Amino acid sequence: MVFKVLKIDHIGVAVRDLDESAKFWENIIGLNITATETVESQKVTTAFMPTGDSELELLAATADDSAVAKFIENKGEGIQHLALRVDNIENALADLKAAGVRLIDEVPRPGAGGAKIAFLHPKSTGGILLELCQRD
Ligand code: ZN
Repeated sequence: MVFKVLKIDHIGVAVRDLDESAKFWENIIGLNITATETVESQKVTTAFMPTGDSELELLAATADDSAVAKFIENKGEGIQHLALRVDNIENALADLKAAGVRLIDEVPRPGAGGAKIAFLHPKSTGGILLELCQRD
């Protein structure tokens, strides 16, 4: 292994309505949304809420063919993915591919907050949509 997992970067939660969900997380749970951003390549608007060393990411679809829209259609709102921060995402993808892990993204793509991200297929990870992310 030539890459290293640094920590759980964030947990992605699929929601129908960002403003509605924000009421719960901010007013009832007491978190604060510090950044919102629309990521065109993923057809989502994201809202990040720091929770100490990691974050919660709310994801709302901006189009019907967005992965988040499909997730909600199939399973309803809820935890959609788990993101691990790695030290080198290119090395990670090469290592994982060599190990036979099914990659959704063969090369990293831009994520929210300037991160480089890539998803691994749940069929290779025990049922979890796993995101790798690298932030420099
Ligand atoms: Zn994410």
